[in-house]
Amino acid sequence: MAALWRRARPPPASGLCRTLRALSGKNEYDLLVIGGGSGGLACAKEAAQFGRKVAVLDYVEPSPQGTAWGLGGTCVNVGCIPKKLMHQAALLGTALKDAQHYGWNISQPVHHTWKVKYFNIKGSFSDPHTVRGLTKAGKETVVTADNIVIATGGRPKYPVHVAGALEYGITSDDLFWLKESPGKTLIVGASYVSLECAGFLTGLGLDTTVMMRSVPLRGFDQQMASLVTEHMESYGTKFLKRCLPTKVEKLKSNRLQVTWKNADLDKEETDSFNTVMWAIGRAPDTKTLNLETVGVKTNSETGKIIVDASEATSVPHIYAVGDITEGRPELTPTAIAAGKLLAQRLFGQSSELMDYDNVPTTVFTPLEYGCVGLSEEAAVQRHGSDNIEVYHAYYKPLEFTVAERDATQCYMKMVCLREREQRILGLHFIGPNAGEVIQGFALGIKCGATYPQMVKTVGIHPTCAEEVTKLHITKRSGLDATVTGC
Ligand code: FAD
Ligand code: NDP
Repeated sequence: MAALWRRARPPPASGLCRTLRALSGKNEYDLLVIGGGSGGLACAKEAAQFGRKVAVLDYVEPSPQGTAWGLGGTCVNVGCIPKKLMHQAALLGTALKDAQHYGWNISQPVHHTWKVKYFNIKGSFSDPHTVRGLTKAGKETVVTADNIVIATGGRPKYPVHVAGALEYGITSDDLFWLKESPGKTLIVGASYVSLECAGFLTGLGLDTTVMMRSVPLRGFDQQMASLVTEHMESYGTKFLKRCLPTKVEKLKSNRLQVTWKNADLDKEETDSFNTVMWAIGRAPDTKTLNLETVGVKTNSETGKIIVDASEATSVPHIYAVGDITEGRPELTPTAIAAGKLLAQRLFGQSSELMDYDNVPTTVFTPLEYGCVGLSEEAAVQRHGSDNIEVYHAYYKPLEFTVAERDATQCYMKMVCLREREQRILGLHFIGPNAGEVIQGFALGIKCGATYPQMVKTVGIHPTCAEEVTKLHITKRSGLDATVTGC
């Protein structure tokens, strides 16, 4: 990469840049990427492979609680990676309990010690080919490029109408950087971030409560989502359902008193916590990019950038990838793939577009939920219930037997078209290592796999994934879907 501008390397004087462009009439760079996260870095690295002159601007605005980090974006600093490691730490706690059933002598009590390791030009457009940046120290620099990619991601939202929310609450931007255990924690929201964080905090032995205003994991198959929360409840996570916070106050004891409205009981309730975390979604910071000046269109409700199938914005040479874009999944692999493909189209004579269909994903709750394709609800809505066949099974992972672990929520379903070929529309799996299980099947589904092909696939015994190849009970039949024995 020609230039990677970070705090450590001061940028050239802005005046000089302007003069160079004025003298030559040329832009300094072939490609300028604003945002050094998953999508931005993938795009920049790929463009550099084509021998192009590339610059990346990355700047992390500290969170309201003052947390900041370096290059790499959300995934590596405050997202997927620290989250998966915390998830693994919690799973190890469960494994320690299991180990005793397998004959290991482990001296009691076993408890977790909170251990954390800590690890910046902010760009805004001044004209369609020019981005102006300010270093943390307030120094100005100007970069010009033929093509510009916006990959600035998003940041956690705060509930603006809840008094004390900003003052006393934290978000996932802060959680992974805490020096001390969060203690008794309330997490508001009920989607990926909330459930995953609540899952590992519970697993680490902390008193953890999730406050949910509507349904868990909106947009996911709701039968699967209910099983995920059911398992979490049985595992110790508390749920406050149909509740909305109204205020957060700091008590003399330094604890945070939260007041909320319980819609079912139509009354106000309170409790105190050591930590209150908002996991109510993420929003892009498009305002500071000065997009109106250059004519890049955004969705007025979400603030996200409107792009076409080639990731192009309303301005021909300005593109956007990743979480900042309207209607795309907020996932690292899609941001990376979109960034790479864009660089290949821009500089490598490729015309391949990013395919956002059948993107697999996994929610890393204590019992993981992995899926690819349509939910049962979406399949019914698209094709009608008479045209859908759902094969399903409850199963018991072999590892659970010796450890006497409850497998009530270990469940999978395959949503297929009912006509003769029975093309698979969606696969949903709850159980250990769901991400690993779904990744392979995602290839089959991407290639148009059918139910007969799936059941002709020989299983690997003894695994949980093999149960997918053995699915034979339809929901329509009403037969007991519990798998017994080999
Ligand atoms: P980002 O990675 O957010 O990068 C954007 C970068 O641009 C940041 O460094 C930002 O500071 C910088 N920036 C912003 N504005 C400017 C500006 N004006 N000038 C210069 N720089 C700027 N996805 C998965 O696939 N799997 C997971 O398990 C997973 N877990 C997650 C867990 C959590 C807690 C969270 C919050 C997210 C998780 N995600 C996961 C989602 C994933 O992290 C994002 O989809 C991904 O990081 C998006 O990449 P991006 O390139 O669009 O943006
Ligand atoms: P989401 O937008 O997915 O969910 C927001 C949650 O907060 C919903 O439950 C929503 O409820 C609730 N909510 C919204 N506003 C309020 C409010 N004012 N008061 C109370 N509750 C509210 O956001 P997340 O932060 O969970 O995740 C962001 C994205 O990050 C995800 O979409 C995902 O793509 C990515 N991610 C991926 C992961 C993975 O791949 N494993 C892990 C973590 C994140 P309601 O349904 O009622 O609107």
